[in-house]
Amino acid sequence: MGKRVVIVGGGYAGVTLAGELDGACDVVLVERKDRFYHNVGAMRAYADASLYPRLLIPYDRLLRRGRVVFEEVVSVETGGVKGTGGFAMEGDAIVVATGSRHVMPFKNSFRESAAFLAEAEGLSAELAAASGVTIFGDGPVAVELAGEVSWRYPKKRLQLVGAGERLLPGAGNPRLGEKLLGLLRGRGVIVEFGGTPSNADLVIQAFGGGISVPCLGAAGRVPVDGHFRVAGLDGVYAIGDAADCGEPPLTFLARRQARYLARYLMGGVTGVYKPAGRVAMAVPLGPKIGATQLPLPGLPVVGSFVTSWLKGRDLFIRKNWDLMGGGNGSTF
Ligand SMILES: Cc1cc2nc3c(=O)[nH]c(=O)nc-3n(C[C@H](O)[C@H](O)[C@H](O)COP(=O)(O)OP(=O)(O)OC[C@H]3O[C@@H](n4cnc5c(N)ncnc54)[C@H](O)[C@@H]3O)c2cc1C
Repeated sequence: MGKRVVIVGGGYAGVTLAGELDGACDVVLVERKDRFYHNVGAMRAYADASLYPRLLIPYDRLLRRGRVVFEEVVSVETGGVKGTGGFAMEGDAIVVATGSRHVMPFKNSFRESAAFLAEAEGLSAELAAASGVTIFGDGPVAVELAGEVSWRYPKKRLQLVGAGERLLPGAGNPRLGEKLLGLLRGRGVIVEFGGTPSNADLVIQAFGGGISVPCLGAAGRVPVDGHFRVAGLDGVYAIGDAADCGEPPLTFLARRQARYLARYLMGGVTGVYKPAGRVAMAVPLGPKIGATQLPLPGLPVVGSFVTSWLKGRDLFIRKNWDLMGGGNGSTF
């Protein structure tokens, strides 16, 4: 067996790296949760809690040779990591992939899936019982949630309140937000900018993510070089949302970084990582409608057919079970 690689965090970046290195290196994936949370499906699951078990994927089929250890890491140094309760693990390379935060249920920091499920199902029950709902936010999480709620509950009074002047202010092409605004209004959603809740018995905050990396003492994303090395810590790397390599925090970029680093750690690549210039953004509003910005010159925006085919119909759930080693979610 080759060198030992300790990966801290089993999200999109960490599991991809672990899978790529399994067999070639002695892989130890350290994760605090008992299941991988496919949070890309969180907005649909909020509207229909029966989806949650399919978003919580066990780690037991991910690795054939390596292992997954359920611990919370508190510090990372050259040569090893330390966790709560005296846990310690040495490694030739340490990769920090601790990701980002968001409010419930958009990210999940519960150690036990059963506890997460109990709270998430409670939120969905409140939503089901409300007759008027206001969602605060203008980013993809808020817009997608408004779409999913209006799809599942077409008769609910639904208001989306954005802080700025348009939806999806972070998208490269403003047409994306305009198209989604038209689709939401077409479904009867009241979209306002800078408004206050009107006739709502439930207010949902759908913004408020953040990134810090406490195990490296970083208050934001950790700067890395073109090989994902953390300055001043020999043999320590960072990837995914935790790392600042010049790319936005997105799943497919986290996976792309992981695949690059796997090749680098196995000695197969010497050139530096090239950050993606143009990024895709697919925003379904339920399984059948939505809009997508394509990563092509001019960032063209396409509509419901492509968005449903790309993402809306199953939110990459099947693909993520496959990447985690198989199964379909019926085992929870
Ligand atoms: C609701 C929502 C929807 C999204 N939808 C999309 C989308 O459709 N497409 C897209 O490209 N991006 C999407 N994103 C962004 C995407 O979720 C992130 O880019 C992605 O999660 C980054 O992966 P990661 O592996 O870096 O981190 P994460 O997925 O956050 O994983 C980090 C892992 O590390 C673990 N961890 C953290 N600290 C410790 C510790 N100290 N010890 C042990 N384990 C630890 C966590 O439990 C977690 O499992 C969405 C984000 C949100 C919030």
